[in-house]
Amino acid sequence: MFMRYDRHILFDKIGDKGQEKLKKSKVTIIGLGGLGSSVSLYLVGAGVGEIRIIDNDKIDIHNLQRQILYTEGDIGKFKADVAEKRLSKTNKKVKIIKFREKFDGKNNAVLEGVDLVIDCTDNLKSRFLMNKICFEKNIPIVHGAVVADYGWISFIKPGETACLKCIIPEKAKPTSSSEIGILNSAPGVIGTIQATEAIKYLAGFGENLKNILLFVELSNNRFNKIKIKPNCEICSSHL
Ligand SMILES: [Zn+2]
Repeated sequence: MFMRYDRHILFDKIGDKGQEKLKKSKVTIIGLGGLGSSVSLYLVGAGVGEIRIIDNDKIDIHNLQRQILYTEGDIGKFKADVAEKRLSKTNKKVKIIKFREKFDGKNNAVLEGVDLVIDCTDNLKSRFLMNKICFEKNIPIVHGAVVADYGWISFIKPGETACLKCIIPEKAKPTSSSEIGILNSAPGVIGTIQATEAIKYLAGFGENLKNILLFVELSNNRFNKIKIKPNCEICSSHL
């Protein structure tokens, strides 16, 4: 295994120990669109031991602008099926478990026993459900969202940080790329920061975006760190 990860092992903040930790880690990625594409490709390359992927969408031609897991020949196929094959091609040592279904919190196998959940969904309903279940199961979340030319990332840890409900008001009007469009590289930027948050947490180095919302505006190169505090009923019952 160590030839493949030689450049991580040479990197002093990861080394043999960090790489071993990545191998022992289990992660669930919810959503296989633009964010899920870049997150999954980097985590499979990093050698995370088990990656569970969940999405019930099929690939459409307008996805190819930014969803880098897929190619023209994949149009009409399920994202979960294509992603599983594509990710295994990069690293067959990683156990990929696919769920060709919508995340509704009912299938225990999606989240049971994972070390981390990566939020790559595109709707508030799934995000709030994921937030609630992860707090019940005590699973940290790397939250990411992106639209147009901006997005944000935060690291959520039950009992330690503000949760998604503290970040996004439940009555927020969802804005989506199907309404206002999206710069194709934007999910690449936000997704790779999410993957980096995950790798740091799993390998045990650096700092995570705890109680911080990193807000990224790409048109003017603004990266702002906004402090957030636990302030909702879910958080107050866990702190
Ligand atoms: Zn909260």
